[in-house]
Amino acid sequence: MRNILFLSALLLSILLRAQIIVPTPAKLDLKNGDCLLRRNELVVSADSVALGACSLFAETLFEGDECNFTTDSLSARLLFRVDTFLPSEGYRLLVDEQCVRVYASDYPGFVYAVQSLRQLAQMRGDGSVTFPCVEVCDSPRLVWRSFMLDSGRQYQSVATIKKYIDMLSMLKMNYFHWHLTEGLGWRLQIKSYSMLTEKGAFVASGDEQQGFYTQEEVRDIVNYARRRAVTIVPEIDFPGHAEAALTAYPQFSCFGEPIGIPREGFTKNIFCAGKDSVLIFLRDVLDEVCQLFPSQYIHLGGDEAPKDNWDACPDCRRRVASLGLGDSHNLQRWLSAQMASYLASKGRKAIFWEDVIVHDGYPLPSNVIIQWWNYRTRGDAALKDARRNNYPVIANTNYYTYLNFPTSPWRGYTKERTFDVETLYNENPSYKASLHYNNIIGIGCSLWCDYGLTENMLDERLFPRIFVLAQQMWGSSLPSFPEFGENIKSIMNFFSVAGYSKK
Ligand SMILES: [Zn+2]
Repeated sequence: MRNILFLSALLLSILLRAQIIVPTPAKLDLKNGDCLLRRNELVVSADSVALGACSLFAETLFEGDECNFTTDSLSARLLFRVDTFLPSEGYRLLVDEQCVRVYASDYPGFVYAVQSLRQLAQMRGDGSVTFPCVEVCDSPRLVWRSFMLDSGRQYQSVATIKKYIDMLSMLKMNYFHWHLTEGLGWRLQIKSYSMLTEKGAFVASGDEQQGFYTQEEVRDIVNYARRRAVTIVPEIDFPGHAEAALTAYPQFSCFGEPIGIPREGFTKNIFCAGKDSVLIFLRDVLDEVCQLFPSQYIHLGGDEAPKDNWDACPDCRRRVASLGLGDSHNLQRWLSAQMASYLASKGRKAIFWEDVIVHDGYPLPSNVIIQWWNYRTRGDAALKDARRNNYPVIANTNYYTYLNFPTSPWRGYTKERTFDVETLYNENPSYKASLHYNNIIGIGCSLWCDYGLTENMLDERLFPRIFVLAQQMWGSSLPSFPEFGENIKSIMNFFSVAGYSKK
């Protein structure tokens, strides 16, 4: 009987504390005992690179209490030390009853250790926190782990953007791919072309489709993300998906006429590639983008650009003829190459959606990365093209990394365009390809906000499927689905407490 009572108490203590880290660490060794930290015991000894992670620890676990830094390691309850032998973004965590020790070789590693500690923590009513005694050794499988949010079709508040940056950091995803320009709205303030946002941010009709991000807000968001080891990769989509910009500046279209705004999808009205003024405009925009975003990577879009106007436009036809490009598809490659080269001159890399390499032709510079997406229509054709031409690839196939595809039919999403968490777990082509091809630098997932997907619907699309994607990006292995399913329940509780909701 005593044994049963003891076992029950043990089980209860385990149930109360999830002791689950998602994505699953490479190695987790749970030991006996706990480490209790009271509010007045935040005595920290830290190497300078870890200071931001220390303050994140105090802010998230002790409601903003300040750390009390000491140079005396023996009196510290928290130790953050550089270990140059650990891999980039990796960390080692050692918790015993006296001390929490964190080792990493770089800032992201320290942040990820803190995020793991948050998931292990048991919050107590008096404001103190206990951690299980544990040893964790962990590092990512893939260097690129991204989430794309479509702020072009729907505007989201700055608070919402920060909420999802928090989510990324908690799930050890390192790039926030921010889709800032669309036919339905241009959301990034560009000071040298003020009409882009004065007019172009207000072309759609929905209540939540009005608005843009000022440069001051963007700087704040970039810093917010950097502290959480998240890099923001802005996307300026051209030549297509540009109706909002062309409404503000019709002179950058082929025929200089007023542009209609699509209700859904995209139109044939794209930036003209024959006018030099368009190239100057794009370079000016990229100048401001590069000043705002320190990311090594800038996304230049390139998807879904119908060539009807280019084929009829005298300026575009002249460009094709004078450069011997042959056709308008090659004109897009030429335009893409011009802008990628411009980014190269600034020491940046250019990411394009796969459409840019659908047709062979004009050579792209060596700083180009291809984002593979159109699996439903083209299977792995883009992956093959990229492999043949030695382009690094981000695997972001619409099946099954497009989180706007719901789990059951909704508006334009018919049954064939739905998927559930188990299908994602077992069938994701992006994950499978990432196991086999070393030109795949990582996995991305995307949340497009078409059909009026507003802010209050984002959590429902993300959870719990985002946990599977985080696991596929980070984890050195996949547990069985039933086993991971249990982890999902526990980690969803953690996220619910943190303010996220599932369907
Ligand atoms: Zn043109």
